[in-house]
Amino acid sequence: MSLHDITARIAKAESAAGRLAGSTKLIAVSKVQPNERVEAVLGHGHRCFGENRVQEAAEKWPGFKEKFSGIDLHLIGPLQTNKARQAMELFNAVHSVDRPKLAKTLARLAQELGQCPDLFIQVNTGEEEQKAGIMPADADAFIAECRELDLPVQGLMAIPPVEEEPSLHFALLAKIAERNGLPGLSMGMSGDFEQAIALGATHVRVGSAIFGERVKPAG
Ligand SMILES: *Cc1c(COP(=O)(O)O)cnc(C)c1O
Repeated sequence: MSLHDITARIAKAESAAGRLAGSTKLIAVSKVQPNERVEAVLGHGHRCFGENRVQEAAEKWPGFKEKFSGIDLHLIGPLQTNKARQAMELFNAVHSVDRPKLAKTLARLAQELGQCPDLFIQVNTGEEEQKAGIMPADADAFIAECRELDLPVQGLMAIPPVEEEPSLHFALLAKIAERNGLPGLSMGMSGDFEQAIALGATHVRVGSAIFGERVKPAG
């Protein structure tokens, strides 16, 4: 199955980059995939998954969590503040922290709940108007603000513009992380995860290359 191919390609890319085997975490992006496909990947022992919508994840994952232990669930899509509590209870990591209002809400809820998922700050490396993420020029200040709020910021996340060479964006993200002393880099998808690993990705988010093309929801 494709999970094996992808883990083999990740190992090869780590070795080619002179990185430790196992230093890249594979997030299997299961959004919109039929449950049978997700269950097949769970059946092969994989436990780390990514979803881009809180609602969809809340419908899908409690059932899987009853059947399989050790599930590590990552939110990789935009988070509205009114869904923050639900997200913090459901996910082990949130990769889309992208604005002060959300950071403040997460900090308040972390106090109240006594726990907080691992957080990644999303950077809009392509400075695209329609895309979420803090602008690169504002990233250092926003990272500092999140740290002052005592948020557990593990790293940065980016989704490069579709038409551009992703490596330039991966390199920019790595540079911002390095100068801020952040160890985590969530970057690389089905089409470019090997390039991302070459540039230091610690988390790759791979969907269609594992599960097959996403079945478009009706309507
Ligand atoms: C859907 C999605 C992915 C996975 O995309 P594929 O091309 O199917 O690997 C990765 N990251 C984010 C943020 C996504 O929304």
